[in-house]
Amino acid sequence: MGNKLVVNVVTPNGTIYEHNAKLVVAKTIDGEVGIMPNHAPIIVPLAIDEVRVRRTDADTHVDWIAVNGGIMEMRDNIVSIIADSAERDRDIDVSRAERAKIRAERKIQKAKELQDKNELKRATVALHRAINRINASSHH
Ligand code: ATP
Repeated sequence: MGNKLVVNVVTPNGTIYEHNAKLVVAKTIDGEVGIMPNHAPIIVPLAIDEVRVRRTDADTHVDWIAVNGGIMEMRDNIVSIIADSAERDRDIDVSRAERAKIRAERKIQKAKELQDKNELKRATVALHRAINRINASSHH
């Protein structure tokens, strides 16, 4: 039994986040999950959403990470998040995300006109990625 977690966020670019923490809150496809030290082992698929990491007992030091889906595993007080891409709030290029959002919106419009369901799905996911980055960067 311990009183802290170690949180790792790993992407194909390497480990983009690694810190001790007291609480991790993430959005799974079934809803929000909060993990504190000594939580039972779990593996859950994540939504494209922000992950919130509280580093201390008080709410004074909170990190936000934009996570592009993936999975989260908790075992032996180690929380591992593995995703295709993930960025800490401070590492997000907001203007890039704004451009990606506009691009995705245009693609959605076009896919609707052409009734292209696959393109509509792809563009909708791209839109969610961009909005998630914009939201996460707003905490910085
Ligand atoms: P874009 O259309 O701007 O490339 P994307 O959603 O297609 O966005 P991804 O394929 O999800 O981008 O990510 C490619 C790489 O670029 C990943 O390493 C990701 O962390 C990084 N990345 C994407 N958008 C941003 C951003 N706005 N700020 C910082 N890094 C980003």
